[in-house]
Amino acid sequence: MKLSELKNGETAIIIRISGHGGFRKRIMEMGFVRGEKVKSVLDSPLSDPVKYHVMGYDVSLRRNEAATIEVLPEEEAKKVLTPAPSFGCTAVCNDCPACNFKHHKSDAVRKNTINVALVGNPNSGKTSLFNTMSGSSEHVGNYSGVTVEAKTGSLNYKGYRINLTDLPGTYSISAYTPEEIYVRRHLYEQEPDVIINAVVASNIERNLYLTTELIDLNQRTVVALNMYDELSASGASIDHEHLGAMMGVPMIPTIARTGKGLDRLLDTVIEMFEGKNHTARHIHINYGISLEEAITPLAGEMHKATDLPHQFPVRYWAMKLLEKDSEAIKQLNKCKNIAAWQATAEKLAHKAELETGVDIETAISDAKYGFIAGALQETYTPGNENANIKTRRIDRLVANKWLGFPLFFALMLVMFTAVYQIGAYPQEWIAEGFSMLGTLCARILPEGALQDLVINGIIGGVGSVAVFLPNILILYLFISLMEDSGYMARAAFIMDKMMHRIGLHGKSFIPMLMGFGCNVPAILATRAIESHSSRLITILITPFMSCSARLPVYILLAGAFFPKYAPIVMIALYLLGIIMAAVTARLLRITKFKQDETPFVMELPPYRLPTLRSTLHHMWEKCEQYIKKIGTTVFAAAVIIWFLSYFPRPEANSMAAGSDIYAESYIGMIGKTLEPVMEPLGLNWRSSIALIASIPAKELVVSTFGVLYNSDEANLSQSLINSGDFTKSSAAAFLVFVLLFFPCIATITTIAEETGSKKYALFAVIYNTGIAWLIAYAVNQIGTIL
Ligand code: GDP
Ligand code: MG
Repeated sequence: MKLSELKNGETAIIIRISGHGGFRKRIMEMGFVRGEKVKSVLDSPLSDPVKYHVMGYDVSLRRNEAATIEVLPEEEAKKVLTPAPSFGCTAVCNDCPACNFKHHKSDAVRKNTINVALVGNPNSGKTSLFNTMSGSSEHVGNYSGVTVEAKTGSLNYKGYRINLTDLPGTYSISAYTPEEIYVRRHLYEQEPDVIINAVVASNIERNLYLTTELIDLNQRTVVALNMYDELSASGASIDHEHLGAMMGVPMIPTIARTGKGLDRLLDTVIEMFEGKNHTARHIHINYGISLEEAITPLAGEMHKATDLPHQFPVRYWAMKLLEKDSEAIKQLNKCKNIAAWQATAEKLAHKAELETGVDIETAISDAKYGFIAGALQETYTPGNENANIKTRRIDRLVANKWLGFPLFFALMLVMFTAVYQIGAYPQEWIAEGFSMLGTLCARILPEGALQDLVINGIIGGVGSVAVFLPNILILYLFISLMEDSGYMARAAFIMDKMMHRIGLHGKSFIPMLMGFGCNVPAILATRAIESHSSRLITILITPFMSCSARLPVYILLAGAFFPKYAPIVMIALYLLGIIMAAVTARLLRITKFKQDETPFVMELPPYRLPTLRSTLHHMWEKCEQYIKKIGTTVFAAAVIIWFLSYFPRPEANSMAAGSDIYAESYIGMIGKTLEPVMEPLGLNWRSSIALIASIPAKELVVSTFGVLYNSDEANLSQSLINSGDFTKSSAAAFLVFVLLFFPCIATITTIAEETGSKKYALFAVIYNTGIAWLIAYAVNQIGTIL
């Protein structure tokens, strides 16, 4: 029977997991392993995905993914499953030859600096630990990459300078997701002196899986048994000293939120660094006879080599070769004997697979969980299930068939209103501030190029972007509240089925919705999406969501040329944007991002009360980033656009007519050069100029028209009609073009920054403009025929 056939409330035992490599690996890391009990808890409102309870926590899984897991009712399972061999005993490594163990990595160079990496599952409290520990830090840098980012900070403690790196959350350190590769590379390349492994004490079984990998990697690890308050509240208890002794890793109870236990944690970090901790010892997890008979000879053969990378132990490399781990093969590529080792590994792996009846990765995962179960049996006393009841109750409401969606949309409405309506007040103050600054500069600076640069170029350009700051702060208030409370995962849970249709994750919905307000915060909001390809796709389709800056243009042209049907035209434009977003998402899925590397196995963490401290911290972080962007990229772009529209200056006597000012400038020249390209759309050089001038912000179309048609805003629509420049069909084409063509400067720079690559920003510019041209062309042609 398949797991997907299980009805809500029923339980079963896992027999087997089929499916492909990365997917199966992820499912197993998350606790879906042979012999484990799993309960179907709740369907999402659209009946897919489903919330399951496994290994003491809740996880959401799509039905088609659950269909790859074979289960049986408890009674029948007992007959099928042979009792798993006990892996309770482990070997202590006393400098065994297969380990290549460097007891003192860093004794030589640095005497009083300790580099510490924070490793742990998503939501295990790494960032809270990081923030609480480096609270008084002088410097917090932010390195963002495609999906993954690591934050660094430092603190002084007992004469040591401790540098902390907050690594992305992972369930393991295999090579299947960008986060995992990032974490492994960090350990390999940076060689942190000590690792703090954040472990959720109340969900210890699954969390320790990652710890077993750190043991294999022979890293100097201290486990922070975090959220110890939740463990105590549930009535469970852990003999952490005994557990630590068994695993060879010191374990320190912590409550990151209040800072409890952190001094003890840091003391232990120093002990580890100085090699003075008594609990820490290197152990070999016993993987059972069949696997050991593959690992030991291979490690023995590899141990003879002198060119093996020193970062990880030989035993680990041998295991990875048996698993055919792509990242490890890459790292071992320079070794002379790699081909021979791979051949040996192939043979040994084959033998072990025949003996165990499963592939090497599964066998190793099973053994790891066996080891953990053995260790917990002696040290862990489970509490009552009552701790989960609150979460269960809220979930029954939040993911209710009838109430789930209305609640979600009500919340979105509140967020939307707050971001754009409440945000409008401070937005106005900032705009006023900038305009006052402009007036002031007009008084101080002599008339001429410099004055124009400062007022229209810098203050105007930077101001048009800076006004979004309050919106972004409010947005982040909501996002971090939703993230920290656990609601975000539920929003993804209920929206997933719809988003899946266009090849995306449930988590893509919120950023897309935000896009109707402003694309910049929307793209920032994609950070909540863990899947690398889903996040990139979401970033690339967000500009099709018609942002509020385009609204003034719609109002002007739809009002002028379709006075009776203006609302319908506007709705049609919004819909066209959504359709283009969906089509583009599908296209990207078919072409560039063929498969989603991350399955939709998403932890549904228990609801937690967000702390003021972490919320404020998130808001400040975004605020800082945004200001930095305004000061750099936006500033530069504003100056360039100003230059193009100001120079060369027309002769003094022809300065009178407004439109001529632009006509003679570089922008005017570009507009005229572009005219042949825009002509098939029924648009002339004036429209082309308006489009180019709108690169800093799309609402600039309106003010540019004002200059070009020599008209104030009140009479602008009449002037447009009188000019004869537009027909109904070319006006429609223009509207479509404004909707679809490449996003404003702020959005483009955000795309470049958030994807970590200019390539994607360039793609957005070219692709969106191409699509805009094609569709506007079609609209104009069809319009003309009709
Ligand atoms: P990360 O994903 O590993 O960086 O985890 P975060 O630091 O963002 O924490 C996830 C959630 O757990 C947040 O809502 C924190 O406020 C909460 N949290 C962190 N540490 C503790 C703790 O020790 N006790 C409790 N009750 N909650 C915690
Ligand atoms: Mg974090």
